[in-house]
Amino acid sequence: MTEKWLVGVDLGGTTTKMAFLTEDGDIVHKWDIDTDLSNKGENIVRHIAQSLEDTLHRLGESKERLLAIGIGAPGPVQRETGMLYEAVNLGWKNYPLKERLERETSLPVAVDNDANIAALGEMWKGAGNGARDLICVTLGTGVGGGVIANGQIVHGVNGAGGEIGHMTLVAKGGAPCNCGKTGCLETIASATGIVRIAKEKLSQWDKPTLLRGETITAKAVFDAAKANDELALAIVDEVMFYLGLALANAANVSNPEKIVIGGGVSKAGNILVERVGAYFRRFAFPRVAEGATIALATLGNDAGVIGGAWLAKTSLHV
Ligand SMILES: [Zn+2]
Repeated sequence: MTEKWLVGVDLGGTTTKMAFLTEDGDIVHKWDIDTDLSNKGENIVRHIAQSLEDTLHRLGESKERLLAIGIGAPGPVQRETGMLYEAVNLGWKNYPLKERLERETSLPVAVDNDANIAALGEMWKGAGNGARDLICVTLGTGVGGGVIANGQIVHGVNGAGGEIGHMTLVAKGGAPCNCGKTGCLETIASATGIVRIAKEKLSQWDKPTLLRGETITAKAVFDAAKANDELALAIVDEVMFYLGLALANAANVSNPEKIVIGGGVSKAGNILVERVGAYFRRFAFPRVAEGATIALATLGNDAGVIGGAWLAKTSLHV
C-alpha cells in the first residue's frame, strides 16, 4: 500500500508555506507561494488548492495520496468551525477558512492560529521533544505565543488564548502596540521593539559604542553585545529582563516542561537563552522554575507546516 501524506500549510501575510509530510511528520516535499492579498484576500484559498494540484502533478502523484490538510492562519480562530475571526494582514473578517478550503480541495481541513501550529510543530518534531506541557514564543516582527497544556493548545473562549506577545509588561507609559494597547511584550522583545529601545538608549549615550553610525537592527544589537559592547549589553539586558518576566508569569500559569523561543530574533542563540534564563529563574515560582527548560526552536521556518500536519493528523483522526 502506498504511504499517505498529510498537508501542512502556514498561511502568512507575504508568503504561504506548504508541505507534504508522512504521518510521522517527516517532510516529503516543501515549497512556498506568494500570498495574493488583492481583492480582500478572495483568491488566497483558490491559489492554495491550485498549488496543491500543480505540485502533485509535478511530482507525478494524484490526490489519492493526500489524507487531510492542517492550516495555520494569522489571526484568532474558532477551532470547531475553522472560522477566522479576523486576519488584518489578509483583509479577512469572519472568514470560513475550513469550509472554503474543503470545498476547493475535497479534503478534510483543520484550522488553527499560526503561532499555535508553530508551537505544535516544535512540540512534535522540534525543541519540545515530545513535552506535552510547553510554551512557545516567536520573536519576529511581532511576538507570537502558543501555550500547550497536556498536549492541547490553549484556545480560550474566543480564540485568543496564549497571546504572550500582548501581556502588559510596562503598565504605565509603555510604547504603543499594534493591538491598540501600550506596554505589551511585543513592543519590547520583537525585532521592532529591540530597535526602538536601541535607538532610545543610543540617543542618550555619550560613550563609544559599536552601534553608533550603524543601521540598527536586532541582529546588530546582539552582535555588538557578543563583542562586549557596553551599550548593546544594556539593551539586551533590558529586553531579556522583560522577556524573562513575561515567560515566568506565563509559566506560573501552566507549569510547562519546555519553553521554546523561536523566530528571527532567536538566531542570536545562546546569549539569549542564558540571559533570559537568569531573569526567568528570578521571577518564576521556584517549583515552576525547577520544572522548566528554556530552549531555542529547532525547526525554523518548517515549524508551521509540521504543526499543520500534526493538527490534521490529530484533530481529524485520519
Ligand atoms: Zn499588544
